Amino acid sequence: MTNEPELRCPSCGSNQVTVTEETKWMVNTMEHWCHSVKAHDADARADCLACRWQGIRAQLTAAHQATKEKP
Ligand SMILES: [Zn+2]
Repeated sequence: MTNEPELRCPSCGSNQVTVTEETKWMVNTMEHWCHSVKAHDADARADCLACRWQGIRAQLTAAHQATKEKP
C-alpha cells in the first residue's frame, strides 16, 4: 500500500479525491450481506473534492514519485 502512487483527479490534478464503497445489508435482518463495491475496486465511484469531478477510480491519474510536486 505505501508504495502505491498517489492518485489524482484527471480533471484538475488535485489529490483531494475520494472513493465510495457500497455495502449491501439484508433489509429484514440488517445482516451484512457483502461489499458490492470496495474502495480499491477499479469501478468504485470517485469524486474530486476540489472541482467536483465525478467518475470511477480507474480514471484517476497516478502521480509518480519522480514527478510529485511539493505542496
Ligand atoms: Zn478535480
